[in-house]
Amino acid sequence: MAHVFFRRNYVHVRELNLSEINYLESDPEHRPRASLNYTPVLDDDFLELLTTAFNNHPSASSMMAELNCTRIRFVGGLPRGFACFQALRREGKHADRYIYGHHESTRNKFGTDKTFKSLKQFVPHVFWIIVDQPLADNRPRGCLCKLCAEQNYRL
Ligand SMILES: [Zn+2]
Repeated sequence: MAHVFFRRNYVHVRELNLSEINYLESDPEHRPRASLNYTPVLDDDFLELLTTAFNNHPSASSMMAELNCTRIRFVGGLPRGFACFQALRREGKHADRYIYGHHESTRNKFGTDKTFKSLKQFVPHVFWIIVDQPLADNRPRGCLCKLCAEQNYRL
């Protein structure tokens, strides 16, 4: 999604369909063990949760500046290869959510359960996917998400 096109096109709410991005790296094989008893989060629910998490993220203002909008709304589908699961806490109502599919999740000594532990934690990786990873001021732009940062630290 060539976000450079956004620069001349301010919109109040920018709708993004992450499933249309086809250059991203992901790991569709990496999914929770059956014994964890997680339930899948439906795509529509996931997109709504991710939209809220993205718009309320501490880095939202700099992300919105780059995306040339005030808010974003995720529509369509998830980024290819990713999936969200949830587990209800014992007490009942609160659900912990985990996002599977990070491209390094089963390689380079990462354990098989290397996951994003919340929507909020997933947001920087989503931003990186949207802006096409490439260059900022002619320098490579690394992903700032927790999993990518840990990975870079290990190399
Ligand atoms: Zn990342």
